[in-house]
Amino acid sequence: MPNFETEIKYLPGVGPKRAEILEKDLKIRTLEDLIYCFPFKYIDKTKFYKVSEITADSAHIQAKGIITKFKINNAGKKEFLTAEFSDETGSFELIWFKGVKWIKENIAAGKEYIIFGKPSFYNKKLNIAHPEIEEPSKIDPKTASSMESAYNTTETMKSKFLNSKAIRKLIQTAFNLIDSPISETLPNYLLEKYKLLGLKESLFNIHFPQDVNLLKRARYRLKFEELFYIQLNILKLKVNRKNTIKGFIFAKVADNFNNFYKNNLPFELTNAQKKVIKEIRADFSSGKQSNRLLQGDVGSGKTLVALMSMLIATDNDYQACMMAPTELLAIQHFRTITKMLENSNVKVELLTGSTKAKNRIELHEKLQNGYINILIGTHALIEDTVQFKNLGLVIIDEQHRFGVEQRAKMWKKNTNPPHVIVMTATPIPRTLAMTVYGDLDVSIIDELPPGRKSIQTIHSYDAKRLQMFKFLKDQIALGRQIYIVFPLIKESEKWDYKDLEDGLESISRAFPPPDYAISVVHGKMKSDEKEKAMQLFIKGVTNIMIATTVIEVGVDVPNASVMVIESAERFGLSQLHQLRGRVGRGADQSYCILMTSYKLSKDAQTRINTMVESNDGFKIADVDMKLRGYGDIEGTQQSGEAFELKIANLYKDGEILIHAKNVANDILDDDSFLEKEENSVLLRQLKKNSLRIKNWSVVS
Ligand code: ADP
Ligand code: MG
Repeated sequence: MPNFETEIKYLPGVGPKRAEILEKDLKIRTLEDLIYCFPFKYIDKTKFYKVSEITADSAHIQAKGIITKFKINNAGKKEFLTAEFSDETGSFELIWFKGVKWIKENIAAGKEYIIFGKPSFYNKKLNIAHPEIEEPSKIDPKTASSMESAYNTTETMKSKFLNSKAIRKLIQTAFNLIDSPISETLPNYLLEKYKLLGLKESLFNIHFPQDVNLLKRARYRLKFEELFYIQLNILKLKVNRKNTIKGFIFAKVADNFNNFYKNNLPFELTNAQKKVIKEIRADFSSGKQSNRLLQGDVGSGKTLVALMSMLIATDNDYQACMMAPTELLAIQHFRTITKMLENSNVKVELLTGSTKAKNRIELHEKLQNGYINILIGTHALIEDTVQFKNLGLVIIDEQHRFGVEQRAKMWKKNTNPPHVIVMTATPIPRTLAMTVYGDLDVSIIDELPPGRKSIQTIHSYDAKRLQMFKFLKDQIALGRQIYIVFPLIKESEKWDYKDLEDGLESISRAFPPPDYAISVVHGKMKSDEKEKAMQLFIKGVTNIMIATTVIEVGVDVPNASVMVIESAERFGLSQLHQLRGRVGRGADQSYCILMTSYKLSKDAQTRINTMVESNDGFKIADVDMKLRGYGDIEGTQQSGEAFELKIANLYKDGEILIHAKNVANDILDDDSFLEKEENSVLLRQLKKNSLRIKNWSVVS
């Protein structure tokens, strides 16, 4: 009785060997997996090309003609077979490297065949390798469709005759054999309300479209379902969390906050900062544990929001901590915040990997007896030995550097989980944020502090280096400071500093003392050396900072007005945007100079152009997503594993996603725990999917 659970090896035409390949290459283990292996495109099989119309640029083509002149060739040791395919307009070559025996036994010279394949140009001749071949009489007019499904396969698969056509045949066989009904995976009321095509019909039409309209409806339904269950899963966890986990209540705003606000706040808050602080305060008094994602472009003033939130925690006798992705940044936050809290009673301490064992013991004690109010640090904060007396708020800066598991650990630092604010300057496209961070509430700082001039970005070439140096000298003469950043190449465990070293040499020659002083910072330096070099630059003792990407996040030197990025083509978009964000922090006109070689790949050219044209982090994130696909967006790499989307595309299907989210919300509003009979299918599917989809929500 074949059904969805039947193992693929029992399907006629598969057997153990091919089953192994299918499982290894496409993760197909059961008939269900096979049927859920969706085509990546459809090919018009009603159209026949004439040989004279075909070029090496043609996509897959179908042609009718005769095959003649079979010939065995030798390339080194390897034998391959060629033949000539011709119609009344001309001829080209067919080539087989594999399956030669089968071709010789089954294909007759001089007989008419239909061939199908991708033309290419080899040895100055047009040819098609491993074409699909069919006899015209055997083509079933019923399945010859203008939308024949095509499937992704691998080289290994092709060598075992598991090409696109074979997959299609297997799916056909599976459909014919499965004798238990395919049970619907969405509740009936949803199908009716949103006029969704039934599951069985959708699955059939996605593989064998009966007409354009049915294909459209099938795709829609399957995409909707896929996105809907992801949303339902995330939102259900969020609802359950809000219903079951108590949040600390920070009821009052008292001296710590008020004194800071009245006496120490160095500037007027922007409206966006005010709005976000309001949202955070609402979280704090809601009685629910909050998880908030705070997005704000580089330089939008997130640190201040973090500080003010922490002050509210301390006003309510809770401790707060703030975690930064690099030591440099943690130290910088520590300094900024200590300075902003001058003359206040708030006790702030720093904990990083370089904190000495002796100081550490003392620090642990002061955390546990409640002496320390605010702890700032790096990953070191996560260690189990770091225990608080009463941790009420965790702030995670530049979140994309932290793994999900590390975040989860912060939850366990108090009997009830503390409030969590995750800050990021890497704008996440909305659809992605909804999916990966779907259970976080989102606040956006969409405004920069006043007086900032937008950064002017210039693309320049190695050949214009002298001109660039001249420009830097002019800027330095105006009192400005300059960053020059080199890419860091990771080769196995060794860091390659050749670029930086070479660059340093030429820059040192062009910018000699006493007029110029240079600081160097890179990842291989000891942390106190780094910190020393950084301080010289912050204090303005040095006017040039040469660095690798260690300065990428967060470093704040308002007087620095030029960011030169060497080999800019080697950086990703979000990294370029982050680096550029190091300048434009003071009132002066700032510049970002992207140095590249002359020859750029198409993607690199797009990245550079985007940087030159736009300062808008969200726009840049969008382009980034388009170029790389959502799975590669920095910080969300894991999302690729978390959601193996089979048909939906987070970039293109944003509207369906939003619809799916709203539908999921409505259902949960009405039935938070999905206890109603009509929703039993939802619960069943969630359980089934959760085996596939890793659970993100509990940890963010
Ligand atoms: P980011 O959001 O990138 O972390 P920061 O918090 O480092 O930004 O702030 C960038 C700079 O802007 C800092 O020098 C900070 O002191 C300054 N800043 C923050 N808020 C304001 C404001 N409301 N008005 C003027 N400057 C501000
Ligand atoms: Mg910051």
